Amino acid sequence: MRSLDDPVQFVRGVGPRGAERLGRLGIRTVRDLLRHIPRRYEDRTAFRNIGDVRPGEPIVTRGVVLAAEVINTRRRGMQLTRVVIGDGTGRAELAFFRQPYLLTRFQQLMVKRKSVVVYGVARYGPNGLSFEHPEWEEFEPDEEGLSAGRIVPMYPLSEGLTQRWLRSSIASALDSHGSLIPDPMPSSLRERHRLLGLADAYRMIHLPDSPESAEEARRRLVFDEFFLLQVGLAMRRMDRAGAAGAPLVTASSSELEALVRDLLPFVPTSDQAAAIRELAADMGSGRQMNRLLHGDVGSGKTAVAVAAIALAVRSGHQAAVMAPTEILAQQQASVLSAWLRRVGLDVELATGSMSSRARSALRARLESGETRVVVGTHALIEGDVRFRSLGLVIIDEQHRFGVLQRQSLQAKGVAPHILVMSATPIPRTLTMTLYGDLDVTVLKQMPPGRVPVKTHWKRPDQSASVYRGVARLLDQGRQAYVVCPLVEESDKMEAAAATQHAHRIRSQMLPGYRVGVLHGQMPAEAKEACMAAFKSGELDVLVSTTVIEVGIDVPNASVMVVENADRFGLAQLHQLRGRVGRGQYASYCVLIADPTTEAGMRRLQAMTETCDGFRIAEEDLRLRGPGEYFGTRQSGIPEFQFADLLRDEEVLIETRKAAAELVRADPKLACPDNQALAAEVAVRIASLDLVKVS
Ligand code: ADP
Ligand code: MG
Repeated sequence: MRSLDDPVQFVRGVGPRGAERLGRLGIRTVRDLLRHIPRRYEDRTAFRNIGDVRPGEPIVTRGVVLAAEVINTRRRGMQLTRVVIGDGTGRAELAFFRQPYLLTRFQQLMVKRKSVVVYGVARYGPNGLSFEHPEWEEFEPDEEGLSAGRIVPMYPLSEGLTQRWLRSSIASALDSHGSLIPDPMPSSLRERHRLLGLADAYRMIHLPDSPESAEEARRRLVFDEFFLLQVGLAMRRMDRAGAAGAPLVTASSSELEALVRDLLPFVPTSDQAAAIRELAADMGSGRQMNRLLHGDVGSGKTAVAVAAIALAVRSGHQAAVMAPTEILAQQQASVLSAWLRRVGLDVELATGSMSSRARSALRARLESGETRVVVGTHALIEGDVRFRSLGLVIIDEQHRFGVLQRQSLQAKGVAPHILVMSATPIPRTLTMTLYGDLDVTVLKQMPPGRVPVKTHWKRPDQSASVYRGVARLLDQGRQAYVVCPLVEESDKMEAAAATQHAHRIRSQMLPGYRVGVLHGQMPAEAKEACMAAFKSGELDVLVSTTVIEVGIDVPNASVMVVENADRFGLAQLHQLRGRVGRGQYASYCVLIADPTTEAGMRRLQAMTETCDGFRIAEEDLRLRGPGEYFGTRQSGIPEFQFADLLRDEEVLIETRKAAAELVRADPKLACPDNQALAAEVAVRIASLDLVKVS
């Protein structure tokens, strides 16, 4: 009996040696081999003559290597490997920056009069037609029919493997095992979403008869990959929503309007108003709310949160707000209490640095229900803190908390309503996977009167003039942030760097101004005192490490200087920049950096071009790839084999809808038609949990 789990060595033409090489790509079984899909295709039905290449369109061409050299470019002193190819109809240049090691390979090809296949988009440069960083490979003339005269798949390779060998191995696996591929998708779904059968999809992705059929095949595989995940997440949402005993929070729409009017010192934007109505509906439904409130820095999430808190308390429940750091908890508490005081509510603060007496007194008040609103760091969820009736939990800047903490907090109450607030500018696609088990509300509008922050990128040798500009703003009564370079080694070193930099600012850059320093190694009281002094205007300049990254709100601070800005990621720079431009003043952000990589330059460039957090996030994702997007795998972003989160956004949205419909109709996937699907979903979700816990 043949099976997709057969070891790959039994595929005709593979054998033990081939199996070993495939093993280096993680391919062990026939299934693995079939899932090794092409990275791209070459339309070898139509190689373009070099003489016919038009700039600006992606094409495949082929030519003999005529020359290869490495030159030092004048701009930025980068090494450029320059190769010339020709085919009798014309010549083209291939340009590779910072890859001098390519020289020997091209020189060998040149000596042997070999041809290369080039895939890319050409431009006209000073030397005529030029491909910058094209994909290329040695041309292998062959007679097998799999590799010429058709749309040819190009696979990711590893050492010892060739495209041609891999092509023929996969073709024979398709012959021997292709008919064994089961299709878990019920036919009704397949029809509704115009999906190819799975076995056909595998055949077509490897051996397409046209570019369109390859695309259609890929869409089927991507659809499955997203769909299984989305069904699993939808089942979780459903499970939780069905949990009994969600605290009931009720208010008529006129009561809600009056409450918002009493609470907020301004008119909410229509996004804020809609978000508040959505939260009220969630909390009044008798089922547990699990919602992500997603909005760029400064979009006014706090106003929405405060309304939710007031609503919950008004119905006799308690509300807890979790912040990632003490400074933020403290600030959050003071903002919330300013607003909640207007409706007669007090806010208490719980942090790790409280005395044990104060803590146990607070615990007693939480247990008796006397404390109705509490803001805290994770001290709030440590030990056996009990609430009399915890109705609402708000988690600020959730990605720093981690999924496990979210769960442990949830275990504290009878399924309290959960509102997660995130300013992390995440592309929508990522939100849907990262927070896929939450409903999502987005604040797109900014409150009125916001001026975009003018952003400049300067080289370190321009520092003096940058700080002269800062001084002019200080003289007008504004305040400034200076962010110190990120030091990877340790918090201690980062603290030292900040202190040292503050000294330089005080003595050289901005003598005569009042300069404070803030870093993560300072005791909590010192940090708070420093923040308070900056906020009240007793300090002109705050030199700090990234501890100011999230949530700090000082409207009079209108300029930020980020030293060694290339050490920061895009998302982080954007978060930092969000600290300025919060008041009515024209605001500036100056990034000082001398980046050494192409990606570094692109990041800084992107920052000067836009203030739109979502666009920045997409650029970041593009530059770094989803795996690295949040730095580590603790981010909980599932990995995809077929899907590309940017490119396949539409399919993701379609699958999310389809999954919700399916789960609404058949919450446990108990229907016979859905059995095969249920099994695959279970596997997919299990792999997801492994990632999150590790
Ligand atoms: P976020 O937490 O989303 O970054 P905040 O809630 O801190 O944003 O709001 C940023 C600033 O905008 C605060 O100073 C807040 O008082 C103000 N703000 C929020 N909503 C409005 C509004 N509708 N009209 C005017 N100002 C607003
Ligand atoms: Mg905030």
